[in-house]
Amino acid sequence: MTGLSSYDLAGLVEKVREHTGGEVDRSIPALASADADLVAVALVSVDGEVAASDDAGVLFSLQSAVKPFLFALALADSDGAALDRVGIEPTGEAFDAIKLESGTGRPPNPMVNAGALLTASLVDGDDVAERDERILRGLSAFAGRSLEVDEEIARDEHLLGDRNHALAHLMRSEGTLTVTADDAVAVYARACATLVDARALAVMGATLAHGGRNPLTGERVVSAAVARDVVSVMATCGVYDGSGRWMRSVGIPAKSSVSGALVLAAPGVLGAATISPPLDERGTSVRGHAAADIISADLDLHAFGGLC
Ligand code: GLN
Repeated sequence: MTGLSSYDLAGLVEKVREHTGGEVDRSIPALASADADLVAVALVSVDGEVAASDDAGVLFSLQSAVKPFLFALALADSDGAALDRVGIEPTGEAFDAIKLESGTGRPPNPMVNAGALLTASLVDGDDVAERDERILRGLSAFAGRSLEVDEEIARDEHLLGDRNHALAHLMRSEGTLTVTADDAVAVYARACATLVDARALAVMGATLAHGGRNPLTGERVVSAAVARDVVSVMATCGVYDGSGRWMRSVGIPAKSSVSGALVLAAPGVLGAATISPPLDERGTSVRGHAAADIISADLDLHAFGGLC
């Protein structure tokens, strides 16, 4: 995409600041004290052009924006067998719904907590430390730089994530989770606590959009088949019970998160990321959604935009 670096992101940020609705997540102290006024946006094309707003270097935790990448690593490390262990139908439910697939006891989708607890348990590694290490290395390859984990957030997520512990125990009782419930929550919590900025998250999205090859470093992080599987599931369940509305208005596969981050992957064109902590009732950043609507229209990125 030519001309991306001249896209007026400062103007976009000012425009979306007018959206004042939403509430900051309060599940852990670090999220409750997030700067509600932060708005940052970054775009990275598959040919390596970058556009970043002023605050695109401000760090935040990935939270659920890590889920597409956990799914990607699980698919890569299991040679696709992860698809036998987790469903891929859209759930139409909240991210932390206590619900497994009927009949199989599998988690319903890798974009909701049950599925991400499971995919995090499927990456290579014989114990928690090895899986933590594999995930951080994999996420860093997606981002094209060394990422770090916020230890306090990881600890709080692990300690305070009662619903995640409940989901992990439920999957253990069904025989679909094969590591201990506590190990599953520990690895997932640490992955959620990985720190990125908007620019790094946009590179991660661009790596998916580029068929698994990082457009800045040139590294093949996952296969094109894995990237296609991941982006397909983002398109159908990335914004939970708001995914239908999201695809209609924005038309770009994406993943939301409670930190107020959004990562988008427009196949063959670009990756994008926004961060703005106030969330709507489905856990999607209000200003992030508004920014995605504008970016999609300005750059003609709606998957079905050719119809009008
Ligand atoms: N860490 C959060 C949790 O598991 C992530 C949820 C989210 O971002 N929607 O509860």
